[in-house]
Amino acid sequence: MKTTQQNISSQNLMGMPHQDLEQYFSVVGEKSFRATQIMKWTHQQGVTDYEQMTNLSKSLRDWLNENAQMQMPEIVSEEISTDGTRKWLLRVDEKNAVETVYIPEDGRATLCVSSQVGCILDCTFCATARQGFAGNLSSAQIIAQLWFAEHRLRKQLDKSRVISNVVFMGMGEPLANFDNVVKAIQIMMDDNAYGLGKRKVTVSTSGLVPKIDKLREALDVSLAVSLHAPNDEIRNQLVPLNRRYTISELMAACHRFLQNKDRKHSITFEYVMLDQVNDQPEHAEQLAKVIQVLPSKVNLIPFNAFPNSGYKRSADQAIETFREILQAAGITTITRRPRGEDIAAACGQLAGDIQDQAKRKRHYEKLYEADLLKHKIEVACA
Ligand code: SAH
Repeated sequence: MKTTQQNISSQNLMGMPHQDLEQYFSVVGEKSFRATQIMKWTHQQGVTDYEQMTNLSKSLRDWLNENAQMQMPEIVSEEISTDGTRKWLLRVDEKNAVETVYIPEDGRATLCVSSQVGCILDCTFCATARQGFAGNLSSAQIIAQLWFAEHRLRKQLDKSRVISNVVFMGMGEPLANFDNVVKAIQIMMDDNAYGLGKRKVTVSTSGLVPKIDKLREALDVSLAVSLHAPNDEIRNQLVPLNRRYTISELMAACHRFLQNKDRKHSITFEYVMLDQVNDQPEHAEQLAKVIQVLPSKVNLIPFNAFPNSGYKRSADQAIETFREILQAAGITTITRRPRGEDIAAACGQLAGDIQDQAKRKRHYEKLYEADLLKHKIEVACA
C-alpha cells in the first residue's frame, strides 16, 4: 500500500460515486476494480465492515480499517403510520438530524430524502422553512438515507429489493446543494449500487433556474418543480425565490431541461392547495395556460397543516374542481393523497413551529427589503 500526502482519512467512502472511488484507490496505489468491489459490498450488500469484505486482500482490509471512514447515520427515532408510511429521524452530527420518509404504494415504494438540514428558502407554507437553515448534507449523508432504508427494510420485510423510487422532496432545496446531490444520485443510479433508472429519481426544486440548467448537463433524471401559483403575484407571496426567478424564467428553464430528452419525459409541477389563496377555478385556468406549453403533469398537494401555519387546506370540492379544469385542458393531474399525516411525515410537515402568518409575512418583507433574502438566494445560486 502506497502512503500518500493527501488527507484521505477524512473522506467517507459511503458518499463516493464510482469515479471518486477509482480516484481514491489510484491515489493509494490500488487497482481501480476496488471501486466496484467496495460499491457492491456497501450499497448492494449493505456491508460496511471492511473485515467482512472477503474478496479484498487482508492487507487492504487492514489498511482500510486504519485509514478509510465508512460512516453510517445513527437512527434517532422511527415512526410508523397507520398507512404504512415510516419516518426516520437520522442524526447527521451532534446538533442536527434529518428526516427520511418511506412511502409504500401498490407495486412500488418511494423514499423521500432530505438534502439539507432545514432549508435556505423561506416558502411561507412549509414547516421546514420555519426551522431555518443549518447546513448542507454531504453526499454520504444523502446516500446513507437510502442505504439505511433499503437494508433495514430488506431485513424487516424479508425482501431482496425494497425501494423503487427516490424523490428529493424531504427537507431542503436539493439544487442549492448541487455537487453533493449529484454525487448521491450517481450512486443511486449505479448498477453496482442501487441501479435506479432515470425516471425513478426525481429532483424537486422550488425554481433555482441556473441550477436547473446545470442539472440537465450533469444527469439524466426527472424534474419536479414546486410551482404552487399560476401568476407571479401569488407566487411571490408563497415562494419568495420567485422574486429572483419569475414564472416565465422558470418555464423557459423547464423547456430547456426537456430538450434532447426522449418524448416520454415531462415536468411534474407540484401545487399545494391553499384555501382561498391559489385554489380558485380562475387560478386553474391560468395555470393551465402557463404550463400547457410543455409536456407537464400536475400533482395537487392538499396543504398539510402544522401549528401556526396561518393557512388552511382547500376544501375537497375545490381541489376536485381544480383538477377537472386542468384535466379538461389536457394536463394529467393527480391529487396526492396525504401520507403519514399521523406521524407528521407528509409534505412540508418535516419540522417545528413558530410564528403566525401575519408576523411571518412581515418577517419575509423585512428580510427581502434588507436584501438578506436576496443574498441568501444569490448564495444558493452561486
Ligand atoms: N425545496 C424543494 C424540495 C422540497 S419538496 C422544493 O421546493 O421542491 C417538498 C414539497 O412539499 C414541495 O413541493 C413543497 O412545496 C411541498 N410542501 C411544503 N410544505 C407543504 C405543506 N405544508 N403542505 C403540502 N405541501 C407542502
